[in-house]
Amino acid sequence: MSEKKDFLRTIVEEDLKSGKYKEVVTRFPPEPNGFPHIGHAKSIAINFGIASDYQGHCNLRMDDTNPTKEDTKYVEALKDAVQWLGFDWGENVYFTSDYFTQIYDYAIQLIKMDKAYVDSVDEEQMRELRGTVTQAGKRSEFASRSIEENLDLFEKMKNGEFKDGEHVLRAKIDMGAANMKMRDPLLYRIRHAHHFRAGDAWCIYPMYDFAHCLSDYIEGVSHSICTLEFENNRDIYNWVLNTLGLEAPRPYQHEFARLGINYTVMSKRKLLELVDGGQVSGWDDPRMPTIAGYKRRGYTKESILNFCDQIGIAKANSMVDVAQLEFCIRDDLNKKVPRVMCVLDPLKVTIENYEGSEEIDASYYPHDVPKEGERKILFSKEIYIERDDFNENPPKGYFRLTPEQPVRLRHGFIITCKEVIKDTEDNIIEIKAQYHPDSKSGSDTSGIKVKSAIQWVSSKEAKEVEVRVYDRLYSNEAPTGLEDLNTNSLQVIKNALIEPAVILEKPDERFQFERQGYFYADPIDYTDEKPVFNKIVGLKDSWGKKTDDKPKVKEASKKQVNKVQVVGEVAAMTNEQQVLFDKYTKELKLNSEVSNILARDEKLSSFYEEALNELNSPIALANIVTNDVAKELKDKEINELKFTSVQIAQLIKIVDDGTISSKIAKQVFEDMTQSGTNPTKIVEDKGLVQISDPSIISPIIDEVIVKNPDNVEKFKAGNTKLLGFFVGQVLKTTGGKANPQVVNELVAQKLK
Ligand code: ATP
Ligand code: MG
Repeated sequence: MSEKKDFLRTIVEEDLKSGKYKEVVTRFPPEPNGFPHIGHAKSIAINFGIASDYQGHCNLRMDDTNPTKEDTKYVEALKDAVQWLGFDWGENVYFTSDYFTQIYDYAIQLIKMDKAYVDSVDEEQMRELRGTVTQAGKRSEFASRSIEENLDLFEKMKNGEFKDGEHVLRAKIDMGAANMKMRDPLLYRIRHAHHFRAGDAWCIYPMYDFAHCLSDYIEGVSHSICTLEFENNRDIYNWVLNTLGLEAPRPYQHEFARLGINYTVMSKRKLLELVDGGQVSGWDDPRMPTIAGYKRRGYTKESILNFCDQIGIAKANSMVDVAQLEFCIRDDLNKKVPRVMCVLDPLKVTIENYEGSEEIDASYYPHDVPKEGERKILFSKEIYIERDDFNENPPKGYFRLTPEQPVRLRHGFIITCKEVIKDTEDNIIEIKAQYHPDSKSGSDTSGIKVKSAIQWVSSKEAKEVEVRVYDRLYSNEAPTGLEDLNTNSLQVIKNALIEPAVILEKPDERFQFERQGYFYADPIDYTDEKPVFNKIVGLKDSWGKKTDDKPKVKEASKKQVNKVQVVGEVAAMTNEQQVLFDKYTKELKLNSEVSNILARDEKLSSFYEEALNELNSPIALANIVTNDVAKELKDKEINELKFTSVQIAQLIKIVDDGTISSKIAKQVFEDMTQSGTNPTKIVEDKGLVQISDPSIISPIIDEVIVKNPDNVEKFKAGNTKLLGFFVGQVLKTTGGKANPQVVNELVAQKLK
C-alpha cells in the first residue's frame, strides 16, 4: 500500500479505528449488460484493493435488476476480468436477483409504514408533477391511497395482473426536496420479461435505488463505493435503510470520480453499439477499451493495475490521456520481454560477396546484459530488410542504408549498398550489397562508422506471419459518435517475415520486435500454420510528440520514430538524477515519463520541490510543472518568471478543492505568466469560481433549450449525441465556469 492514503482509505481506516465496523466489506457491483471496460478496472482495483489492504473482503455482485439487457455471457466476462486482474471474490458470486424475495418483503414493510405507494399516472404526468430544479413538485392524486389498497395493488402488480407501465411503486418522501432524486423515487416497475436467472418468476423488478442499498445491507457490506454520478442517490440510499430501521453496522455510500480516457468511449452501451454494428470484431477486439480487449491485445495485468494506481482516486472527474496507459504497458514490457527481429515490409538484399551461411549468437535482452537468454540467428547470402530502411534520396538526418551510407545489421555485419534493382515501374525490388567481414557486432575491427542498426531476417529461415497493427479506435480526442472512428485503426500485414526462434522457442508470448514496438501472439487466431501477432503498443508515444495540430498519417509518424530510435542512444542519468528519479517514481508515485523529465532537469526539479513544500499534491504539481511551467522555463531562469512555485501550489490547491475547473486553471495560469498576480486574486477579480449551483445553471440550460428547438426535437427522436451539444452550449455561455458534471446531469434531466 502506498504511504499517502487516498480519501477512501482514510475513511475506511477511521471507521475501523472507531469500531464502526469489525471488518471491511466492499463490493464490485456491475450490471451484466456488457463486457467490463478499463473504467471498471479502476473500480475493481479500488474495491478489491481496499478490501485486501485492510484484510477484509470484496464481493463480486451482479446487479441484475434489468431483465431485458442482461445475459450470462456478460457474467462470465465480468468474472474473467476480475480473475485476470488477479483478484479473488471468495466462494460465491452474488446476484441481486437472489434477493428479489427479500427486497419485495422490504417493499411491503414500507407500504405498511405508509412510506410507499402505488402510483398510476402515466410517464408524462409523472414528469410534469416532478417539478424542476427551481420548482417544487406535486404528489399525484394516487398518493393518498390507503395502505390496504396499496398492498392489494402491489400484490396484483406482482401477480402479473397489469401491463408494463400501468403502475409503479414509489417511496413517499418529499416532492419539494431540493434534491430532485428525493421526490418520491420509484422503487418498483412492471416488466413482463424473462430474466436470465430468475426466469419468469417475477414481472416486477426493483429499481437500482431500492435494490442496491438493500443488497449491500443483506451482504453485510461496510463501504459501498461508487462513482460520482450517484452522489444525489446517496440520500435515497440512506432514506431506505433508515426508514426500514435496519440496524448498525449498516453500509454507507462513498463516491469517487469515474475514469474517462481520451480517444475512446467508455460505456457498455456505446461499446455494445460498436459490437452490434460490426465496427469491431467483438467485445474482445484488441482496439476495444474492454478488459477482454486489452487482454487479447497483449496488455499485462500489471500494466493495467499500475495505471489504476497512477491515476489515483479523486473526487473530481477528469479525462486521462490514453498515452499514460500506453506508457504503463511499455514500461512494464520494456523490462520483461525478449527482443527479436521482424520485418514488416520486406525488401530483398543480396550480399554479393558472401556464400553459404553462418549462425550468430544474439541475446534476447541486449539492453539488459546480465539477463540471460539468447538464440542463434542465421546470416546468409539472401536477407530481407525493412523497405523504408533503405532510401535512394535520403532526407537530411536519415541514418539508415542509402547508396552512400552503410548500415549495421543488428547483431550482425555492416553492409554497403552496391546496386539498386528496379522493376519496369521503377519500384525497388532488390538491393545488391556487400558485407564487411571484419565488422561483426561485438568484434568489429573495420573502423567503418555507421549511424544506426536495422532489423533483418535471413530468407533461408524466415517465417511468414500475419501482423495486426492497431491504432487508436477514434481519431477524435473526445469522440461523440461513429463519425469519429479512426478509419485506420487496424492494418493487417499478411506477409511479414520473422526469425524462426520466435515461433519455435516461444521464450515468451510477448516480444519486442526491435524498432517496431511490442507484440503479442494473438491468443485466439494464432496457429502454427498461420502465426498471428498483435501490436500491443509502439516503442514511443508517436501521438503526443506531434507539433502541428492535425493528426499526421501514421506512416509519417512511424518514420519519425524510427529516425530517433538508434539503439542505446539515451544518455545515462547521473547519480543525483537517479536519486531524484527513484524518489519520484517510488515515493511520490509519479509515472516514469514525468519522473524522467523532472529528474533530468535541474530547473524543473527544484521548482517542483519548492511547490511540493507548499502543497502535498505530487501528481497534479508534477503535471503542471512538466507541461506548463516547463514551457515558460525553456528560455528563462526561475528568477525571471513572473510567478512563483508558491503561487503554482495555490493554483493547484484551488483546482483540487473544486473552486475552479481545470479548464479555468489553464486560463488563470496564462494570466499568472503575464501578470504575476496570485491565482486566488485572479479568480476573484475575474469571477472564475466554478458554478455548481443548479439554480444558477438551470435557467441557462432553459435558455439554450428554447434557442435550439430543432436540436431538442432531434434529441428526443433519438439522436442522443446531441447531449454533448447542449452541454457545450451551456459551458460556452458560462465561459467554461459551469461545473460540467452538474450541467451534464441537469441537461439530461431536462431533455428526458
Ligand atoms: P457503463 O455506463 O459502462 O455501463 P456503469 O456505471 O453502468 O457503466 P456498472 O456495471 O453498473 O457500470 O458499474 C459497476 C461499477 O463500476 C460501479 O460501481 C461503477 O460506478 C463502476 N464504474 C463504471 N464505470 C466506471 C468508470 N469509468 N470509472 C470508474 N468506475 C466505473
Ligand atoms: Mg449502466
